[in-house]
Amino acid sequence: MFKYDAPELLLDGRTILVTGAGDGIGKASAIAYAKAGATVILAGRTEEKLEAVYDEIEDLGCKQPAMVPIDFDKAREPDYIELANLLDTTFGKLDGILHNAGIIGLRTSIEHYDPIIWDQVMRVNVNAPFILTQTLMPLLRQSTDASVIFITSGVATKGRAYWGAYCVSKFATLGLMETLADELENDPNIRINAINPGGTATAMRAYAYPAEDPSTIATPDDIQPAYLFLMGPDSKGVNGQNIDAQGTLSAQDLV
Ligand code: NDP
Repeated sequence: MFKYDAPELLLDGRTILVTGAGDGIGKASAIAYAKAGATVILAGRTEEKLEAVYDEIEDLGCKQPAMVPIDFDKAREPDYIELANLLDTTFGKLDGILHNAGIIGLRTSIEHYDPIIWDQVMRVNVNAPFILTQTLMPLLRQSTDASVIFITSGVATKGRAYWGAYCVSKFATLGLMETLADELENDPNIRINAINPGGTATAMRAYAYPAEDPSTIATPDDIQPAYLFLMGPDSKGVNGQNIDAQGTLSAQDLV
């Protein structure tokens, strides 16, 4: 596991948007960020799931979160502008985005891949993080220490049969992260990185590996050290990295 001991209240005073915050890894990250003192903006498509996470954060006595229901499959540019305006009015700045929401699409060959599902996967996994980052850039620029994290995968660097649009979308996510990181290389106030979570017990993983016993792999809570490190001030200066959350590196190796 990536080694990092997050100081208490690592994210105090920060406002952080987490997409796909209602379930799986996004839910664990939203709660970890809230426990570290952040005001977390919970974005996702299923309102009841966001409400449950909202209540959990309140019950923990953390800072009151915010909720922004949005379906990245259906959202179009005006929806993103509306979201940015809402966050601008409410918070005036953004210190971080965790682009966690994602879908797996079909597990089938390219030859037989349904083009409609292909489009859906690209919209949710690639286009949404692109346009969200673009529309929220003015708010990120209001922060003196902003961090944007994209989520890749083991299939982001080497193509794998039958992973179709998901595999291609994760290559694209890595490319988006590296391109943006290079563009902002000389901006000391914004860093851009990615995390490869590694096999983690969630609904997505269970769909991809139905025969696997989930108790034999990492939980979403187990992998949070990488998510905390990259979101917090200890990673200042780290830019353009794709970190394995379950790898052997430690925070000191990167700074
Ligand atoms: P889950 O399926 O458990 O959670 C995905 C989250 O994304 C859910 O909250 C879901 O909302 C949200 N989401 C999906 N579609 C949309 C949409 N159209 N609009 C808004 N939100 C949406 O997946 P994981 O937690 O496993 O995955 C999180 C990230 O980690 C993904 O990017 C995934 O590709 C990546 N990853 C996961 C691995 C693993 O082993 N689990 C391994 C490698 C990468 P809702 O619950 O409402 O459907």
